[in-house]
Amino acid sequence: APAAPTSLLNNLNPEQLAAVTLPSRPALILAGAGSGKTRVLTTRIAWLIQTGQVSPAGVMAVTFTNKAAKEMLTRLGAMLPIPVRGMWIGTFHGLCNRFLRAHWKLANLPQSFQILDSQDQLSAVRRVIKAMNLDEERFVPKQVTWFIAGSKEEGLRPRDVQVRDEQSRTLAAIYQAYEDQCQREGVVDFAELMLRTYELMRDQPALREHYQRRFRHVLVDEFQDTNRLQYAWLKAFAGPETSVFAVGDDDQSIYAFRGAQVGNMSDFEREFHVEQVIKLERNYRSFGNILDSANALISHNTRRLGKNLRTEAGPGEPVRVYESTSDYAEAQWLLEEAQQLHRDGTPRSEIAILYRSNAQSRVLESALFNAGIPYRVYGGLRFFERAEIKHALAYLRLLENPNDDTSYLRVVNFPTRGIGARTLEQLQDAARATGRSLYQSVGAVTGKGGANLAAFNTLVDAMRDNTRGLTLREIIEHVVQASGLADFYRNEKEGRERLENLDELVNAAEAFVTQEGFGKDAVALPVDEHAGAVVVSPGTIAEGDPPAVARTEQAPDAETGEIMSPLAAFLTHAALEAGDNQAQAGQDAIQLMTVHAAKGLEFDCVFITGLEEGLFPHENSLSDYDGLEEERRLMYVAITRARRRLYLSHSQTRMLHGQTRYNIKSRFLEELPEAALKWITPKAQAFGSGYARDYRAAWSSGSGRGSAAGAGEKTLAPKVATSEGVALRTGQSVFHTKFGEGVIVTLEGSGADARAQINFGRHGMKWLALSVAKLTPVD
Ligand code: ATP
Ligand code: MG
Repeated sequence: APAAPTSLLNNLNPEQLAAVTLPSRPALILAGAGSGKTRVLTTRIAWLIQTGQVSPAGVMAVTFTNKAAKEMLTRLGAMLPIPVRGMWIGTFHGLCNRFLRAHWKLANLPQSFQILDSQDQLSAVRRVIKAMNLDEERFVPKQVTWFIAGSKEEGLRPRDVQVRDEQSRTLAAIYQAYEDQCQREGVVDFAELMLRTYELMRDQPALREHYQRRFRHVLVDEFQDTNRLQYAWLKAFAGPETSVFAVGDDDQSIYAFRGAQVGNMSDFEREFHVEQVIKLERNYRSFGNILDSANALISHNTRRLGKNLRTEAGPGEPVRVYESTSDYAEAQWLLEEAQQLHRDGTPRSEIAILYRSNAQSRVLESALFNAGIPYRVYGGLRFFERAEIKHALAYLRLLENPNDDTSYLRVVNFPTRGIGARTLEQLQDAARATGRSLYQSVGAVTGKGGANLAAFNTLVDAMRDNTRGLTLREIIEHVVQASGLADFYRNEKEGRERLENLDELVNAAEAFVTQEGFGKDAVALPVDEHAGAVVVSPGTIAEGDPPAVARTEQAPDAETGEIMSPLAAFLTHAALEAGDNQAQAGQDAIQLMTVHAAKGLEFDCVFITGLEEGLFPHENSLSDYDGLEEERRLMYVAITRARRRLYLSHSQTRMLHGQTRYNIKSRFLEELPEAALKWITPKAQAFGSGYARDYRAAWSSGSGRGSAAGAGEKTLAPKVATSEGVALRTGQSVFHTKFGEGVIVTLEGSGADARAQINFGRHGMKWLALSVAKLTPVD
């Protein structure tokens, strides 16, 4: 192999070194968590470039999450003395977006096509079902959405869907109508990004040849989780000369429920004629107790390809297991533990809180929020999915494309403009009859409603005119004012926080512009001699005429119309990264995410919460063997995220979907080696009779770590504030024996579950169980 600066290869063990420097042939690395797969993949890219075997433009690398892609770019940037930002490294969706931006004409899309996130998609499907006069009970929008996404992931268009009966015939018809609607509105959903890219590569020989020649090296991380379409997509990019380098771990396959196929690994081995599968067996991430726990757990699975993991790091600290009485007590304990870790020197960004289901995050978030601890949620319903942000984004999207009916409907009467449901129905009928967009059909509606619609169109046009030539920041500021959103929230009771969020949107845009270099001089990469295609910063891609002979564009060129505007790029970013909480960009924050979203990442300290039967393993998996094995792999992924310290917690009761559930602890806890664990709540604690007592202790002792603090107080206050006692209301002042005077902020639940969130000033915000807490009204 060509010589490389030794520093690059210095810190690799012999197996890793062999993998990094493999000859340019298809290769498969099959290895367990933390064994350096991602590191090998990243180092290989750097090595290939540094030894002159390929130019940066000749490499494509696929990762699973935006966060992982960013980390890869950062690591590469540190290894290579060249700008790496323009490289084709990203998620499947991110790369497809980029591809379709470059070939929008060929792909039959408008240049400024927008991406539907899952909420938009659901409402789009709902509109279709309504327009077809179908019963939402029989064709449940969510299930229809799954059906459409599932079909696309199988590579099936409506005409390919197997029609067996009336039901499937109607489903296919809905799918067709949905596609027509998306096409008309110039929007694509996530699965469409993949499928359309794949079809373009399949059906356009010139384009295919171009990319096959261009990408000499295609590298895929987390290969075990590719689905059929993604695998076909990879094959489309792999030409006879392409070397595909895949890394994966069958024990971490966690997307079977979405069609991922571990079988892709053996298909790959066979179809690409992989000569030798490389295994890595040394784990560099975690201490012994953590790794022992992971190994013991996964050994309960039967369907494995079989590999071992060892570490030379020593046992380290025991894995801590905590039992709490309620989800609130769990959250309280957790945030105090996290604060302690932080005080002891762990950066917040090195503390991760993982949960099985998104619904768990609300309690955790509110505890962190009330305690004023910075946190960041990945992959959940956060910043870009908040109503006020979506309203603002909808206006912005209409500036880019007034025919985007989803956005049109979202804000045409928000803030209210006297446009009622009847008017909108007329408008939709007219649009349907002529196949035009809502915006284009306004003339067909008469009377006052029609006039109001026309006024809305005029408003959108005026906003577009008035923002021409402005910076992204100025555009957003203008739109927030001119749309009436700012006034609306200013007059709303709870509007302050929403206004602040809208300000944050401006900040997010600003951060985006600076990070992505929009408007700044974008850096061009060296030209690949085979392709001549050069990509500048993300989104600023020259459109390739068929066949795709791209040009070397140095900077966005507004005249040719070939390059996305900063606004369009920002809107794409918002859709792709919904869930990344930009509000706290740059701040050191605790990381919250589902286990699925944590794949491939690592943290010094990890909390895995909600280890209860029915939650983790999830109840949907309990009746089926494959499902249970997948849950166990998920747990394996969760455990192996931790470097130094791991906490596992479970709770006796939990509010989920509006109901209190009484839980028994997860079987996964029983599958861990006792020697590696430390139970930090006494196992023998008398919870049965002490439920209330312990609940209170969790709050009043401040640490929630034992039940002693509240044990002495057996009797409840005479004026106990239960549902049948004193009626409490929000805003009321109350007195608590321990925390003093406070004001009730929130009241939730009833009977034994009633609880209140109370601001105790110096003692901070607390959640109290009303059946337990001694509260006396003050006024
Ligand atoms: P996962 O399966 O969770 O994605 P992985 O196999 O991709 O894990 P990496 O994330 O690449 O593993 O590596 C795990 C950790 O071990 C990283 O912090 C990495 O820097 C470190 N590491 C890997 N190889 C070595 C090595 N040879 N020397 C020192 N540290 C290493
Ligand atoms: Mg990895």
